[in-house]
Amino acid sequence: MEYKNVTLAAKKHIALVAHDNKKKDLVQWCETHKVELAQHTLYGTGTTGRLIERETGLPVNKLLSGPLGGDQQVGSMITEGRVDVLIFFWDPFEPMPHDPDVKALLRIAAVWNIPIACNQVSADFMVTSPLFSNTTERAIPDYESYMAKRSF
Ligand code: PGA
Repeated sequence: MEYKNVTLAAKKHIALVAHDNKKKDLVQWCETHKVELAQHTLYGTGTTGRLIERETGLPVNKLLSGPLGGDQQVGSMITEGRVDVLIFFWDPFEPMPHDPDVKALLRIAAVWNIPIACNQVSADFMVTSPLFSNTTERAIPDYESYMAKRSF
């Protein structure tokens, strides 16, 4: 694959997703970091988004619920450059039925080189990084250049 650099804006588009046993942790984390999060645009899968909005008052753009495809909507938004940070508290104690969805979302986040936090301490590191509220560069796949060099 070929890559090209794009600028990650200071104001981020942040997707928040938590499995049921992790929702309390994510809501608590959002409450703790409310001031920092309020600087950005937030998205959430249906139930996670609703809970965060209700408990913290932060505005969250709510997608479909995860089991109905909300996590795939997040994946699709990542490919379109409409989500550039993923905070995904997935539940390691409940592999089924989540495993295929976890794998798909983490894979596409890795492909598009976006920051991912899957637990509270990683999310703390992320939110306290100077890059969280500043611009930075990010290399993303450049499919056009890749195709131009291939012969089919
Ligand atoms: P939910 O989706 O926020 O709608 O519960 C999260 C998930 O379970 O993938």
